[in-house]
Amino acid sequence: MKEKLKSIMDEALQQISGSEELEKLNEIRVAFLGKKGELTSVLKSMKEVAPEDRPKVGQLVNEAREAIESKLEEKITAFEKKKREEQIKSETIDVTLPAKKPMMGHRHPNTIALEEVERIFIGMGYEVVEGPEVEYDYYNFEALNIPANHPAKDEQDTFYINSNILLRSQTSSVQVHEMEKGKLPIRMIAPGRVYRSDEVDATHSPSFHQIEGLVIDKNITFADLKGTLEEFCRELFGKDTKVKFRPHHFQFTEPSAEVDVTCFKCGGEGCRFCKGEGWIEILGCGMVHPRVLEMSGIDPNEYSGFAFGVGLERIALLKYEIDDMRLLYENDTRFLKQF
Ligand SMILES: [Zn+2]
Repeated sequence: MKEKLKSIMDEALQQISGSEELEKLNEIRVAFLGKKGELTSVLKSMKEVAPEDRPKVGQLVNEAREAIESKLEEKITAFEKKKREEQIKSETIDVTLPAKKPMMGHRHPNTIALEEVERIFIGMGYEVVEGPEVEYDYYNFEALNIPANHPAKDEQDTFYINSNILLRSQTSSVQVHEMEKGKLPIRMIAPGRVYRSDEVDATHSPSFHQIEGLVIDKNITFADLKGTLEEFCRELFGKDTKVKFRPHHFQFTEPSAEVDVTCFKCGGEGCRFCKGEGWIEILGCGMVHPRVLEMSGIDPNEYSGFAFGVGLERIALLKYEIDDMRLLYENDTRFLKQF
């Protein structure tokens, strides 16, 4: 029995050593260790063994099985290692292949329009300043001559943090911050985000951008305002642009005006773009109200100035002929890439 086991084991080990492929090893496993395998058949013939010898023979069978199994494992591991090495060799990376290009971002139409506006005003000697988006009621309304309970407040219903603090509804609040610094003269523009509780549609958004402008110096007159804004509009929309000042009312300027420019599509003839008007409304402006100067500690008898406010989105929409403001906020790269 012992010899028989030994010869089975030797035969198995020899076959394993001699095998050249993985499939062959599986066949050997089945042939020797399987249900109908040679080693199994020895166990089946155990009844022919004398009862006292059975434990000894059982142990020998187990030893033979373990020897065959460990040899099989060893051979399988060797095969797998070889296979992996061949794979690595065949899959060498070609470092000279061009890499996948990362997608580059693109400047937003708002940003392009803002940079254009900044370029024009910096060219005229203006400074670009910023102010807080979370603002005191005082800076957003009170100091701009819009007292509590004034109906003008209703037009700019915004988001309150508490009764005293809110998300600014206009960049005009930055005017007050600049005037309070007490450094004169002032020539500044203040671009930034503002908030109003408006429903989203093609021309409204609860969050949009304005560019505020403020000039304060001695002997500033409405002629300075007109000259500056006419120059700005011509730079922005083209040399032939005509500018029209319509009387208007703002709480913090007196007199106040709204500014229209001739439609840059039809040159003032009237077209679909300007709704047949020939003119497009572009900004609001006026001479700083003496009360506003006074509240910020500037003597209105010595100093005067003008202020204006432009909607940044309005400029972007006009300049790039975009007909729906919502497109500016969706950040669809297919849309943004066009500008
Ligand atoms: Zn037109």
